[in-house]
Amino acid sequence: MKPSAIKNLDIAIVGGGYGGAAAALALSNLGAEVRMHEQAASIGQVGAGIGLRPPTLELFREWGIFDAMAEVSTPSDYFELLTSTGDVIQREPWPKMHDYAQVNKTRFVHRGDFISTLLKQLPEETMHIGHKVTGVEDLGDRAALTFADGKTATADLVIGADGIRSLVRQRLFSDRAPVFAGAHAHRAVISADDTYGMNVDDNLRLYMDRNGTMVYFLPMHHRNQVSFDITALSDDGSWAPETTKDGLVALLDGFDERLVNITRNLDMDTVTSRAVFDIDPVDTWHSDSVALLGDAAHAMLHHQGQGANQAIQDAGGLADALREAESVKEALALYQSVRKPDTDALQRISRESWNADSVDTAFPEKSSIK
Ligand SMILES: Cc1cc2nc3c(=O)[nH]c(=O)nc-3n(C[C@H](O)[C@H](O)[C@H](O)COP(=O)(O)OP(=O)(O)OC[C@H]3O[C@@H](n4cnc5c(N)ncnc54)[C@H](O)[C@@H]3O)c2cc1C
Repeated sequence: MKPSAIKNLDIAIVGGGYGGAAAALALSNLGAEVRMHEQAASIGQVGAGIGLRPPTLELFREWGIFDAMAEVSTPSDYFELLTSTGDVIQREPWPKMHDYAQVNKTRFVHRGDFISTLLKQLPEETMHIGHKVTGVEDLGDRAALTFADGKTATADLVIGADGIRSLVRQRLFSDRAPVFAGAHAHRAVISADDTYGMNVDDNLRLYMDRNGTMVYFLPMHHRNQVSFDITALSDDGSWAPETTKDGLVALLDGFDERLVNITRNLDMDTVTSRAVFDIDPVDTWHSDSVALLGDAAHAMLHHQGQGANQAIQDAGGLADALREAESVKEALALYQSVRKPDTDALQRISRESWNADSVDTAFPEKSSIK
């Protein structure tokens, strides 16, 4: 679309997580009038770290926010998979680091720093906090939203970036419920000084046993902290399961004693425990005036560390599609055709999780995504 046509577009985004905030930034940068509606009274994220991958960082360069992100993140060269006792199974450099004009190392960031850095780049008038969307209607070439306070609004384009339990997806595209993965993820951020010498460099390590228990050890050097995540099998699908210190320590039976000691020392008030869910691939992400983005479109398990990255790359893909197509309708079809093959593949690969006996590569995505 011509820049003048994009400037006349009004776009409403449902959800102010990584996907919604990234879309708000990418689409505001194009000149569109963007309103982002977030149900929470303030925007934050549970304490944990994530890895921002090279293609995501390239988008941040394009959007002019790379330096701000670099200030709150640590660059990493590789991902290492190890047995529970610390024997290396695979060590591989992050894919695509050298695919760009400048080297883009994967960068580890605290989730809270990440969202606040993204939000700081948004024009003040874009953000509408405490705005819970309760209804969405597709009117053809426009779409209408209803809010919890009874107010309504219409927009040329509505983006459903409202997460794994997306109302927009359920109302318009798929009524299938999220799928429980039979696992819990327990996450905490700890001081690097309390890691018994395990914090040896700035790379991600995944320790795994043969019972399906995994420990992700993700250093955030810039904060002198480590994001520590224990993922273990469980039949309990309650959203926020009850967890005890003894229960966590028992999960690590047979692991490197230092990992067990880190777990013994955890402050349980800082541990977030969640049952792990994803969704089945959604056949169609868009109508002529509504589109899904991020977890709403393709929530995936965390084993490939790609959910937030793909949400941000959706925002980049949507902005590109609006620039390239002749109309919103065409742009949404283009957006889905470019983005969905990759996210379908990542949803599938992420479900395969890890098995210490059959790891061929640290990045099974390499043969499946662009
Ligand atoms: C244990 C774990 C580890 C992970 N590790 C990684 C990793 O290392 N790397 C990675 O890339 N990804 C990782 N992920 C995935 C990542 O967290 C998600 O993919 C990402 O948060 C999705 O962003 P989103 O904006 O699409 O959805 P969300 O972050 O869920 O944001 C949705 C937003 O919409 C708002 N909302 C919902 N409904 C409404 C409504 N009706 N009205 C208004 N607002 C609404 C919510 O309040 C929320 O703020 C991990 C996930 C888990 C569970």
